[in-house]
Amino acid sequence: RAEEAVAPASTMDAAFEEQLKDGAEAFEFQAEVNRLMDIIINSLYKNKDIFLRELISNASDALDKIRFLSVSDPDKLGTAKDLEIRISADKDARTLTIRDAGVGMTKADLISNLGTVARSGTTNFVEALTETGDLGLIGQFGVGFYSVYLVADKVQVISKSNDDDQYVWESTADSTFTVSKDPRGNTLGRGTEIVLHLKEDAGEFLSESTLKNLIHRYSEFITFPIYQLVEKEEE
Ligand code: ADP
Ligand code: MG
Repeated sequence: RAEEAVAPASTMDAAFEEQLKDGAEAFEFQAEVNRLMDIIINSLYKNKDIFLRELISNASDALDKIRFLSVSDPDKLGTAKDLEIRISADKDARTLTIRDAGVGMTKADLISNLGTVARSGTTNFVEALTETGDLGLIGQFGVGFYSVYLVADKVQVISKSNDDDQYVWESTADSTFTVSKDPRGNTLGRGTEIVLHLKEDAGEFLSESTLKNLIHRYSEFITFPIYQLVEKEEE
């Protein structure tokens, strides 16, 4: 897998976080989703790194979708023509960011896909989990996204679809999430950026070598390039 320095993902600072709160609309998670998130965020499951498999898989799906749309209408690619995935860690902010130039989500997509619309797999997975304890099966039940709460206690999903402005979804898995129009405007061009604010005990995912190994492991069947942002070594 190619590995090279890329421009940092959109920056998050205190001012941004403040502005975000101003325009935030709050939503309740659908009851079963809420139950699932509760189980995940409190889980003692060992193989926490499967969250990266799920995020890479979602990024790849989103890239497939825009590639498919662009076959009949090349204009759909706009200026964001590079169909790729970028992963970076910020040790100071303790965040891990996965960004794709995929199809993105509108505000309505963020609300329905990430929390309010019940998916048949949710209940089935909670049942399977109580029986097997195998959280690694999550992707097969169509709820893989929520595995981010194995390693993060706050997650932001910033998304820009061709059909809407850029929006920010955010949740600390406390039964609610917020959606706000991004005060920074359109910084993604098109696609989705997932920012994981890592838990105290998930610091290992800030390590470049740990990430490199995981990206290698979980990119086996991914046909899009994945770039890892690495810090320049001191001369
Ligand atoms: P699944 O991938 O099996 O559908 P997930 O829980 O992983 O289930 O994701 C839920 C939904 O959220 C996806 O079906 C998709 O609509 C949306 N989604 C998640 N990640 C992305 C992304 N990076 N880009 C666009 N849409 C996404
Ligand atoms: Mg998925």
